[in-house]
Amino acid sequence: MFDLPGSRWRTRFAPAPTGYLHLGHVVNAVWVWGLARRFGGTVVLRVEDHDRVRSRPEYEAALREDLAWLGFEPDEEVPRQSARGKRYGAAMAELGDLVYPCVCSRKTIRAAVKRLGREEGDEIRYPGTCRQKRVDPGRTQVRRLRLEPEAISFGDLLLGPQIQVPAEQCGDLAIRDRDGHWSYPFAVVVDDLDQAIDVVIRGADLLASTGRQIQLSRLLGRPEPPHFLHHPLVLGPDGRKLSKSNRDTGLRELRAAGWSAQRVLAEAARLGGWPES
Ligand SMILES: [Zn+2]
Repeated sequence: MFDLPGSRWRTRFAPAPTGYLHLGHVVNAVWVWGLARRFGGTVVLRVEDHDRVRSRPEYEAALREDLAWLGFEPDEEVPRQSARGKRYGAAMAELGDLVYPCVCSRKTIRAAVKRLGREEGDEIRYPGTCRQKRVDPGRTQVRRLRLEPEAISFGDLLLGPQIQVPAEQCGDLAIRDRDGHWSYPFAVVVDDLDQAIDVVIRGADLLASTGRQIQLSRLLGRPEPPHFLHHPLVLGPDGRKLSKSNRDTGLRELRAAGWSAQRVLAEAARLGGWPES
């Protein structure tokens, strides 16, 4: 299982320091370290603090301490996202005319989608309003990437063959917001490229965004995108994805309740479908 000839199994654990770790993060760590160790690969720690408003040093300190407590030690650490603004700017410049400014608000996008009679799925598809408008770039920091309709196929290491058409899912991809913050998919694609990550291991909630990341990484000159593995998510009692507000699954809470690292790891392995649990 998961045999990837030629892969170096260089993967990453990439937490956002916007809250404390919970069992969902531990599930991801079990998969990341588990596979890297099994195949003689490398785990890169990347602090994804692209959200400069919600990221806090105390959360980062806590997550490092929690990882150490669990026995997860990264092999390498790469620069945090907040230190890489210049590089993201250069990557955007490489995309040239494919990038354009957008002055739409969420509200006007919703209204346009409605007018066009398009079904609203889980995700709002940007209808391309500003594509031809030649908006003055000084008016806004928002930038979008033109995504031509293209079917992106990839083999998920766990879920099998997938086909996605990003232009139909999300439309032209937002790469920077109005406060000048880089978007998650843009920052991680540039990071994965620069840091030579060749296997991306993450939760199934991100499956839908994989096609656009592959399309973007090709546009940035990476013909062979990384391999992807999306593992099961831990759901809360309400059937929804765990969040920082699920207090009973927070690592801090479990530790305070006397759980050993071994017990936390066993529970995460069981919940996350780790095949060696
Ligand atoms: Zn627009």
